[in-house]
Amino acid sequence: MKQVNDHASKSAQKTSMPFTRWGADVLQLHGPEQAELLQDHVLEVNPDGLIQALRARIPGEAVEYDYRGMVIAPGFIDPHLHYPQLDVIGSAADGLLPWLEQHTFPAEKAFRDPAHAELLATRFLDELIHHGVTSAAVYCTSHPGSVDAFMQACNDRDMAMMAGKVLQDRHSPEGLRDETEQSLRDSQTLIERWHGRSRLSYVITPRFAPTSSEAQLRGCAELAAAYPGVRIQSHVAEHQAEIAWVRALFPKDRSYLAVYERLGLLQQHSIWAHCIHLDDEDRALLAARQAFAAVCPSSNLFLGSGLFDFKQTPFSWGLASDVGGGSSFSPFRTMLCAYEVARLQSHYLSPTKLWWQHSSGTARALGWKHCADGLRANTVADFIVIDPRATALMQRRWEGSESLDQQLFCLIVLGDDRHIKETVIRGRAAKSRFSREAIS
Ligand SMILES: [Zn+2]
Repeated sequence: MKQVNDHASKSAQKTSMPFTRWGADVLQLHGPEQAELLQDHVLEVNPDGLIQALRARIPGEAVEYDYRGMVIAPGFIDPHLHYPQLDVIGSAADGLLPWLEQHTFPAEKAFRDPAHAELLATRFLDELIHHGVTSAAVYCTSHPGSVDAFMQACNDRDMAMMAGKVLQDRHSPEGLRDETEQSLRDSQTLIERWHGRSRLSYVITPRFAPTSSEAQLRGCAELAAAYPGVRIQSHVAEHQAEIAWVRALFPKDRSYLAVYERLGLLQQHSIWAHCIHLDDEDRALLAARQAFAAVCPSSNLFLGSGLFDFKQTPFSWGLASDVGGGSSFSPFRTMLCAYEVARLQSHYLSPTKLWWQHSSGTARALGWKHCADGLRANTVADFIVIDPRATALMQRRWEGSESLDQQLFCLIVLGDDRHIKETVIRGRAAKSRFSREAIS
């Protein structure tokens, strides 16, 4: 693995990166129901990769990156997915638990090989960039080296990412099962090595209650308490068979979520994937603890896990792909699945709301400040350029739409990676640099 040299890479950027101007229409998201499209604007980016200004284009002005007629928007944020599952996306199984045993666990075992981890980390980040995702909260495997490989790859791309080593000290196959005390020591070492370095955050990552002992789960909570600002992420209430297993393992607890609450893991800004089969008490608990639900509709449909109840969300939440249980890296697909799941429950999610919950709104709810403020002066220039005319049908629908709402909705329904013209990370074009070999 290459040695990390943050200082050297930043110095190189400062000397090599000029002041740049990006010209296009600009999508500003002000809240879950408030968006505007600023026509023919210029985003100025300074040599540190920060937005210097957002202003109307001067008539006749030439810019370094001219995307007139396209749309600059905040980058998408994916608050739950697994980089080691890149090679199992699109694997069929009879529900969550068979899927884990037949596809996920065998694939994750291969990450004991650092070279494999490095290769998959690179390919995974290529895919994120290819699909317009600029930041994410990511699961590695139980091998500490899988975290080093991933963090190093993120660091090389200067991406704002959260990630952590999976902890699983029971009910796990040989080659993935870790040891309680050692797993906590390894997590602590990784926090010290990576948390707060460049744009990286460490997340303490017990896979889920069935594969961790009480001692391991309690240790995770204690570790988080010892490192303020380090979050916890895990899965909860995804599938009925999983819930039955949890009930058998923790018979005294009121619910699956209550296990995590009793052991101290339900902390502010902790990230809980799925949250499908909750009751009112669970929902109130998530809200009271200021925890965050990562909602994964494409995964829930793919694995047949259930339908997230979009009508009852007193807690903060955001949309996530859950690759490889999720069937696509594309935020457009995830937003469309969310819309369709809500429709099955006679609920309406507006296009702006869907977009917000997969970008700035998610960052804000997570307290992830460096990507929460959208496209404003003095924020990091992480953004995407959308080409609404990349396909003939989308062009017809875009140009024939009478409102921004309608235009955004057409992109959600018809959009894919072809409509992501460019992904910009800290002011630098990344899609054209990194994703040439991406698998689309
Ligand atoms: Zn997951």
